[in-house]
Amino acid sequence: MMSLCYHLSSFLKIFFAITLFNFFAILDIYAKPVFNAENAFKYLQKQCDFGPRNPNSQGHKKTRDFLIKELNKFSKNVFTQDFTFKSSKETLNLTNIIAVFGTNAKKRILLAAHWDTRPYADLDPDPKNRQTPIIGANDGASGVAVLLELARIFKSNPPPIQVIIVLFDGEDYGKTTKEMFLGSRFFAKNINKDWIPDYGILLDMVGDKDLNIYIEKNSLDFAPGVVELVWNKANELGLKNFHNKVGQAILDDHIPLLEIGIECIDIIDFNYPYWHTLNDTPDKCSPKSLETIGKLLLGLIYE
Ligand SMILES: [Zn+2]
Repeated sequence: MMSLCYHLSSFLKIFFAITLFNFFAILDIYAKPVFNAENAFKYLQKQCDFGPRNPNSQGHKKTRDFLIKELNKFSKNVFTQDFTFKSSKETLNLTNIIAVFGTNAKKRILLAAHWDTRPYADLDPDPKNRQTPIIGANDGASGVAVLLELARIFKSNPPPIQVIIVLFDGEDYGKTTKEMFLGSRFFAKNINKDWIPDYGILLDMVGDKDLNIYIEKNSLDFAPGVVELVWNKANELGLKNFHNKVGQAILDDHIPLLEIGIECIDIIDFNYPYWHTLNDTPDKCSPKSLETIGKLLLGLIYE
C-alpha cells in the first residue's frame, strides 16, 4: 500500500511536470514577439548620425557597411546587389541589401524600404538650402529602422513564414522619375526566383510623429487584395493611425515590383511638412509611430 502510494505520487509529480512543461511550451509557441520602439528609434538615429546618405557620399558608404554588418548579425542569408547607374551628372555606385529569414517556409513575403537619402533639399523653404543633401530621418531612415528591428526579432523568434527584407538604394536621387527608384528597378529586373514573394509591403515615411496612413491609390488599383489584408489587420489591432480612406497615388519603389507582377503595396504618410527639406530630422519622428508599423507587421507575420 505504501509503495503504491509512493508510485502514485511520483507518477502524479511527473504527470504535472509534463503538463506544466507542455503548457509553457504552448505559451511560448503562441507568444507573439514584442516590437521594441526605443530600439527601432535608435536605428533611425544611428542612420541619421552618418549624415546625408545620398549615393557616392561618405554617409552613404558608412551606412551601407553598417546595414550589411547589422543584418549579418540576424541572418545567415544576407546578399548585396552592387550596381552602377550613369545619371545625367555622374556614375553612381549603388547597393541593394537583401536579408532572408525563415528560409524553409512555403509562404513568402517581401518587406522593403529605401536606405538612400535625397542629394538636395529641393523643397526647403530657404532657397539657399536647396542644393544641400538632406538627413532624411523620415524619408529614408524610418522604414529601414522598422525593418532592422524586425530583423533583430526574427533572430530570436524565427518567423513562421519566409520574410525577405530588401533595402533599396537610389530611390530618391533624381529630379525626375527617370533617375528615381533605381534600386527597386534593378531588383525587379534581376530578380532571383527564390525572392519572388506572395506579396510585398513597402515602407516609406512611416516615422512622422503625427502619423496618418491612408490607402495609397496605386496600391489599391494594382494590389487590392494586399490592401484589404493589411488594412483588416490594422483595424483588428486597433491601429488608429491607419485610415480606411483612399489617399493620393504615389510613385515609389513599389511601382517596378508591380510592373513585374509582384503585388506590393506602399505604406506611406505623404502628409509631412518637412518632406525634402533640411528639417526632415529625428525630432520630427517618434518611436511610437515606428512601433505602430512594427506591430502591424508582426501581426501579419506571426498571426
Ligand atoms: Zn523622398
